[in-house]
Amino acid sequence: MPELPEVETVRSGLAATVVGRTVVAVRVTGPRTVRRQPVRRFAARLTGRRVTAVGRHGKYLLVGTDRGTLVIHLRMTGRLALVDGPQAPRAPHTHAILTLDDGRELRFVDPRTFGELFFCLPGEPLLGQVTGRLGPDALVDELGPEVLGPLVVRRRTTLKGLLLDQRVIAGVGNIYADEICFAAGLRPDRRTESLRPDEVVRLSAALAAVMERAVAAGGSSLGDGSYRDLFDSPGAFQVEHAVYGRAGEPCRVCGTAVAGTRVAGRSAHYCPRCQS
Ligand SMILES: [Zn+2]
Repeated sequence: MPELPEVETVRSGLAATVVGRTVVAVRVTGPRTVRRQPVRRFAARLTGRRVTAVGRHGKYLLVGTDRGTLVIHLRMTGRLALVDGPQAPRAPHTHAILTLDDGRELRFVDPRTFGELFFCLPGEPLLGQVTGRLGPDALVDELGPEVLGPLVVRRRTTLKGLLLDQRVIAGVGNIYADEICFAAGLRPDRRTESLRPDEVVRLSAALAAVMERAVAAGGSSLGDGSYRDLFDSPGAFQVEHAVYGRAGEPCRVCGTAVAGTRVAGRSAHYCPRCQS
């Protein structure tokens, strides 16, 4: 569930709190948490490393260190918790604990266990193999109509399918794809090859606007056990959702009931009147 705005909120939280800190111990107990490399190798590489920067590409967190990069993907239910020390109550489904040199712990919690951690040494191809498959980042990279237009028309898919394809644009998931379509006035099941130049302009503006507003609100948290930031606080963007999860409720613009359907194998929500 965490999409770009939630991962970006975690990234900025980490950047403000762990840069300059050294990882002094690594404990992995989740059998699936580290799966691209042996757990012992992961722990040996990460132990003793000093965090120098915290980056992100799409939904991947890239924790830069003095020698290599810790890569974290939260997938469905993963989250990071920064706590004061080992005495802090441990959440169920805590699968990895990184102890920092100031005594604090960075914990990886993941009930569904789809999330993962791995560590890449400088020059190791693994990092490029993962991030090299991603399209431009939906927040950081400029996706003006002149960039977006060729990407959109070439794909011959539904608009929602295109927005969800991380190889085209990295970071957008189910919630924000619906919100971007609404903000652009375009139905999620619109064929991309049918989009006119003025509609691509609207899509480009909607993409930037929705990402920026969602990041400013700290992302979205829906229901129990959903996304929380590093300090266990929920996001606030869910109250601004125009269509996602609002099937049958009145459109905030025109009052028409929001429609629910399925597009690209996922749920989709849209206003039949405001979107075409
Ligand atoms: Zn409407």
